[in-house]
Amino acid sequence: MDKTSSKKGCLFILSAPSGTGKSTLCRRILSRFPQLHYSVSFTTRPPRTGEKKGKDYHFISKDEFEQMIREDRWAEWAEVHGHYYGTSAELLENKLAAGCDVLLDIDVNGARQIVKQFSESVPIFIMPPSMETLRQRLENRSSDPPEVIEKRLKAAEQEIACRHEYRHVIVNDDLDETVENLAALIEKYRRSKTT
Ligand code: ADP
Ligand code: 5GP
Repeated sequence: MDKTSSKKGCLFILSAPSGTGKSTLCRRILSRFPQLHYSVSFTTRPPRTGEKKGKDYHFISKDEFEQMIREDRWAEWAEVHGHYYGTSAELLENKLAAGCDVLLDIDVNGARQIVKQFSESVPIFIMPPSMETLRQRLENRSSDPPEVIEKRLKAAEQEIACRHEYRHVIVNDDLDETVENLAALIEKYRRSKTT
């Protein structure tokens, strides 16, 4: 069933391999569009240093996550890098029904599930300039041990192979330029919704 309606807000989906710069881009975009609502995901992975409960993620247990699967309370969910991640159906639908524009930062599997339900959603894939640059960004971020970085790089190749499923593909080379491109795209869709 298509849950998109022209009366509702715009739903933007950002996907990218881990380390591409999605969180950095989200922060920059959200400070530029204060009316854009960031959908805080739920995850069973432990918080990274500096991450805040309820702001970066809602951190929950595996049992709680699986209970919500049984109760059919996820708009989408996926297992990514060995942990569960999901978007609450209730929180997402309430925000859209209230006319808010919403930004989702979710993986390729999650994006597929959202596009199926919300045909007017805007899926955007962010690409790293190269695999070498992706490795450098993951290493510079210093948040993952080497074996985790290797896993993320392997997964990145599979994720990049799915980029054709997205309506827009943007390469995050120069950060300021990427922010401008992304902001222009968001602006375009928001304008078309109100005219
Ligand atoms: P993601 O959320 O996709 O996993 P992050 O936003 O954590 O990625 O970015 C990974 C690292 O790359 C961070 O150290 C960030 O500062 C850096 N970074 C992000 N975008 C760029 C860019 N365009 N150029 C250089 N470094 C970047
Ligand atoms: P990280 O652990 O680096 O924050 O995120 C790992 C991956 O999980 C990223 O690709 C991110 O987009 C994805 N992710 C984060 N939240 C969700 C979610 O709610 N659903 C899905 N399907 N993926 C998510």
